[in-house]
Amino acid sequence: MDYYEILGISKNATKIEIKKAYRQLAMRYHPDKNPGDKEAEEKFKLINEAYQVLSDDEKRAIYDRYGKEGLQGRGYQTNTSFEDIFDMFNDIFGGGFGFETYEEDLPYDIDKAIKVNLSFEEAAYGISKEIEYEYFALCPECKGTGAKVKETCPLCHGKGQVLMGNGFMRIAQTCPNCKGKGYIIKEKCPKCKGRGYILKKEKTKIDIPAGVDSGMRMRIAKKGNEGKRGRGDLYLIFNVAPSKIFKRKGNNLIVDVPVFFTSAILGDKIKIPTLEGEKEIEIKPFIKDKTQIVLKNQGLADPNSGYKGDLYAIINIVYPKKLTDEQKELLEKLHESFTGEIKEHKSILEEAIDKVKSWFKH
Ligand SMILES: [Zn+2]
Ligand SMILES: [Zn+2]
Repeated sequence: MDYYEILGISKNATKIEIKKAYRQLAMRYHPDKNPGDKEAEEKFKLINEAYQVLSDDEKRAIYDRYGKEGLQGRGYQTNTSFEDIFDMFNDIFGGGFGFETYEEDLPYDIDKAIKVNLSFEEAAYGISKEIEYEYFALCPECKGTGAKVKETCPLCHGKGQVLMGNGFMRIAQTCPNCKGKGYIIKEKCPKCKGRGYILKKEKTKIDIPAGVDSGMRMRIAKKGNEGKRGRGDLYLIFNVAPSKIFKRKGNNLIVDVPVFFTSAILGDKIKIPTLEGEKEIEIKPFIKDKTQIVLKNQGLADPNSGYKGDLYAIINIVYPKKLTDEQKELLEKLHESFTGEIKEHKSILEEAIDKVKSWFKH
């Protein structure tokens, strides 16, 4: 497929048309919107490769005459790394989140993203929260035109486009005089100082489902910035504080369970914290350190499916920090009662030491 076909444009597409086509396709196939979709990822790469060449006059001219091989023959790279692509993508969308519709004559994306901080508990159980933020709205005074008094553009006569070139090669281009608006501002609107938009405050109540994690996004329709065709969407990006009790791995939770060394040998029943309160777990005699005991469905819910993860209780054998004289005496007695076993372990080590020594003798 050639680069023009990839972007779905004609061979004589203007720079603006190229950019527009790229913008639409790049947003549709962006990996963020198609997680895990290999085909979309491949398409996204191709779209970017095509745009990198066609948006550069010099590269485009070479490509038109000699094709991709012509570019490679002249030492131009046509394959780009994903990092390059993201840099380019961010360039075009101003570091913002170019999600959905973008309106040519607005200086902002109509979709808006805000960060929402949550405590671990809020994220674990879900919460209804009121959030406050500012968004761009069209100036109510001038309806987004930026003009108190406007005049039809004399160059394009209000069409916003002009025909460029000569002979039979005539191409419609965005009017350079009014930048496609079709009018020019005679007197600026005093409310927005000619910008056409103002900042507005918004308060909205949102229901956050249980189980969201840092970096996850939630879309609230029609609560973003205002454009000529209405408001865009609001994207909440969650930032969840860690818990002092549980460690999180996706939807699974991990809790550290200190088990006193005598309980680890003799066995015990221990109550541990879970999201539902307390649960008792059985410590079998001679349990090993770092043993995992899995409590099914005691983890966090998946915010989309509601399916619950598990809770992993990790056994952490602990020892006394000090001993009384009496405890010491008892332990020494216990130690002596194990003389045979201790000797056995020591002899295994001695044998290993002898072997190692034999390696470098002479
Ligand atoms: Zn205004
Ligand atoms: Zn014009």
